[in-house]
Order: sequence, then C-alpha cells, then structure tokens
Amino acid sequence: MNPIDQLTQLFERFPGIGPRQARRFVQFLLVERAGYRNELAEHIRLLASQTSQCGRCYRWFAKDSRSAGADKKCSICSSTSRDAGILFIVEKDADIESVERSGFKGLYFVLGGTIPLAADEPEKHIRLIELLARLESDASSPYGGRTSVSLTEVILGLSATTEGDHTRQILQEKIFPIAAGLSFKLSSLGRGLSTGSELEYADPDTIASALSSRN
Ligand SMILES: [Zn+2]
Repeated sequence: MNPIDQLTQLFERFPGIGPRQARRFVQFLLVERAGYRNELAEHIRLLASQTSQCGRCYRWFAKDSRSAGADKKCSICSSTSRDAGILFIVEKDADIESVERSGFKGLYFVLGGTIPLAADEPEKHIRLIELLARLESDASSPYGGRTSVSLTEVILGLSATTEGDHTRQILQEKIFPIAAGLSFKLSSLGRGLSTGSELEYADPDTIASALSSRN
C-alpha cells in the first residue's frame, strides 16, 4: 500500500472520522511544511514516552519531567486537598475534564467504556474487577494509608444513553450488595442529565446541578 492510502487508513480509525475526512487530513499534511509534519510525528511519539496511566484512577496524564518517569499516580489522586471520601465513576478520561469544570473536589475512577447491551461478560468491557477491588480497599482501610478519610460515597456518572443506563444497572447490581457492608452510599447522576447526553459534552452548570440533586 502506498503511504497516502496507508496514512488515510490510520486516520480512519480515529473516533468519528470517515474515509473522506481521513483523506482530507492526508491532503493537508501533503501541502504543509515539513517542519509541521515532523513536529506532529514527534509529539505522537512523545505520547508513548512522556505519559503514564494512573494506577489509582486509570486516567492518562503527562509525566512530570522532573520526576524522571517515577509517577504512578496522577495529580488528582496524589493531591492532599481532594475529598478522598467521594469517588466519582466515569466512562472515559474526557469526562473527568468536564466534571472538574463543575467544581467537584472528590476523586475519580475511569471505567474505560460502557457495557454493550448484549454482552455476556461485562468485566471484559469495563474495569469492573479493578473497580470492586478499589471500593473494597478504600472503604475498609483509610485511603491508601495516606489520610484518615475512608470512602463514604460512590457516584455513578454514566452517560444518559442506552448503554450508559445498562452499564449503570449492572454496576448497581454489583456494588449495592457490598455498599452496605462497607458502609458507603451509592448515588447516581442519571436524572440530572438530559436523555442522550454524554458527560463529556455536558456544561459545568448542568453537571453541578446534577451533582447537587443526585439520588
Ligand atoms: Zn489518578
């Protein structure tokens, strides 16, 4: 395959990008100066070497260049000014940015997707096992031994879509039985978001009001 077709195919894998848009990206790169293409290629390479996935919340973050790649936790999880008693569960990294803009000050957990309606094994589509282990450890021992705060509330921040609703139901079925024993409350944003809306695209005021009216 020639380099034009090959790059077009790579762009087609981007979310929401079809063959025509992918072709336009390649055409754009063909006429751009070489310096721009090199910079783009270099930054794509740096994504691998200068980012890390947080071992607590699983979001991707830029490593601190001063700490020589030793970071295991992101800035939110390692902050001492956050409320470690509240855990906000989101589908993807981009949701965290939206929730942050609403002024939320607790911690997060990224599921890494939603559960398709026909899925037989939900744990293959989201980080269900990791989530249950996290809830267990946060609720039974003080948060990572770092503060005396233990888990008091878990908020399910799933999208108001069919798959989001389905995922929320499964999570509720899995979490409810352990919530009482570990004495934390389970709440959901569901009703605060309008039908079909994704957390990523919700404005900060909508998220803030959904948070204050959670059930
Ligand atoms: Zn984190």
